[in-house]
Parts: sequence; C-alpha cells; structure tokens
Amino acid sequence: MVLHIETPLLESGAMAPRPGQSVWLKMEALQPAGSFKLRGIGHACEQYAARGARRFVSSSGGNAGIAAAHAGRRLGVPVTVVVPESSSPRARALIAREGAEVIVHGATFQEANAQAQSLLVEHDAFIHPFDDPLLWDGHATMMDEVDRAGVKPDVVVLSVGGGGLLCGVVEGLHRNGWGTVPVIAVETVGADAYARSLQAGQRVELPAITSIATSLGARKVSEQAFELARRHPIESVVVSDREAVEACLRFMDDHRVVVEPACGAALALAYRAGERLAAFDKVLVIVCGGVTATVAQLQTWGRELPTN
Ligand SMILES: *Cc1c(COP(=O)(O)O)cnc(C)c1O
Repeated sequence: MVLHIETPLLESGAMAPRPGQSVWLKMEALQPAGSFKLRGIGHACEQYAARGARRFVSSSGGNAGIAAAHAGRRLGVPVTVVVPESSSPRARALIAREGAEVIVHGATFQEANAQAQSLLVEHDAFIHPFDDPLLWDGHATMMDEVDRAGVKPDVVVLSVGGGGLLCGVVEGLHRNGWGTVPVIAVETVGADAYARSLQAGQRVELPAITSIATSLGARKVSEQAFELARRHPIESVVVSDREAVEACLRFMDDHRVVVEPACGAALALAYRAGERLAAFDKVLVIVCGGVTATVAQLQTWGRELPTN
C-alpha cells in the first residue's frame, strides 16, 4: 500500500527568473498529513508493518509525528507519539486527530525521545524522523515523479533539518541518472547544524535550536547527510527566520498554499532565483510543506521578527 500521493510539479511564474530560466515547484505541501514526510515515513511504516510491527512509536511533536500517526491509522497499526511540554497544542491536536496516543513528557525533545525509547517493547517499531534508509527510499520517489514528468533539473533547492529529505532527494537523483545535479541545502540561522558541520569538516551538535523553523531543529544532522557532501555536489546556504517567514507569506499570495518557515527557508532562496541561482536554467524547488504554523502565526512573525 502506498500512502503518499503523486504531487503536482508546477512552473512558478512568480519567482521572477531571468529569460530562459524556469523554476519548478514539487508541491509536497499537498501530501496527506501536509508534508513530504509521508513519503518516507509512510514507506517505513508500511515495511515495518509487513515485518510484523504491531505498534509505531515516534517522539516527534511535528510533521514526522503527524505522518507516523497518519500512516498508522491507514495501515491499522496503533501509534504512540511522545512529545515534550514545549510542543505546540496545535501539533498535539493534529497527531491526536489521526487517532494516535499522545503522551506529553519532559521539557525537551531529548527527554521525550528517551521516554519514547523506554516504552519500546517487542513488535514495536520506532519511527525516526530523518535517520533511516527506509525513509530516504520513500523520499526518493519525489525525484522519480519529476523524472516521469520530463523535467530534468539543473539544480535542486531544499530545506535541511536532520537531513532525511536531503538523503532521499540525492538517492532519487542518483537512481534517475542525475548524479551530477547539484543540491542547495537551506537552513535558518539557529537551526544551521548542517552548514556548521560542513564548515567544521565534522558533525557539529548545536547547543540549542534558536530558530522559529522548529521542523529544521535537529541539533545534529545524520551521519549519512554529512557524508553525502563528500560524494555529491551539495552547497549549504543559511537564511534568517525573517527571510523564511517573508517567503511563506509571499508564497501564500503567489501560489495560494500555506507552508511552515522550515519550508520558507528553501522558498526564500528560490525567490532569489534571478541572483543566487542565476547560473542554472532549470531550478527545482522542493516545497516540503509543514502544518505546524497557522496563517495567523506567520503574520505575527512577519510583524514581530527583527528586520535584518
Ligand atoms: C522534517 C521537515 C524538514 C526537514 O527535513 P529533514 O529530513 O529533517 O532534513 C523540512 N521541512 C518540513 C516542513 C519538515 O517537516
């Protein structure tokens, strides 16, 4: 059973490219459960269920938890999600709405995650938000769809949290014969574990996440995401929270779709297609989506975040 849908691939007239340049949007925001996460997590859950898993356990108070809850409901497998006290009431409600058990435990993600691990019994499958080859395999299907649509990108722009999306897209590029197509990996200031790791030449753990783009808030990227930069052309870019939020607000007007600042990070770069991406004729942007920010919240950030 495939839980994700084939998403539209739209050409954006609004991202103001120079003549001869086109910007393509892979609309993962339209996935059931609201983000690309359903591709990988849906695939992993389906595989674990086939191997006999009787429960899925997650510790994500964001889109990964929502995707796991959604996958469990569709597959008829119970789901438990342990979230920290800092998780938003909205995210908790969205997880519960998918029928999952929500346990609030601990002040931080680390504590919630430890609690989730301690709950694991035989026949439980732990659903990691980004570090699992099954996830990458599932995420890679978005590139299979781009290939089938007949659009060969010259560059791919995407957001990076723990690096699951990055690993999946690079896997998808390679399996479609596009192993030389560069990827631009975008983060926000304060959630820039990937940028700092590439700079340092080793994986860096951030002391804390200070960005509002909480879905990019892995303090440390996966080993695989870090290692990939040695085997594939990957460039890292960091934008401010304000740029990410402004890109979300602009995207709402231009494309009539609401996304989180985590996704706005990649969009912010795409809105500079004329400058930063000027060398590329065909730009593919992964519109990764995310459901944890409301329109009202985006507007409040738009008013209150410092200008840079
Ligand atoms: C999870 C998520 C990301 C980051 O994905 P990683 O696989 O952790 O790099 C970006 N945007 C949204 C909306 C997400 O849900």
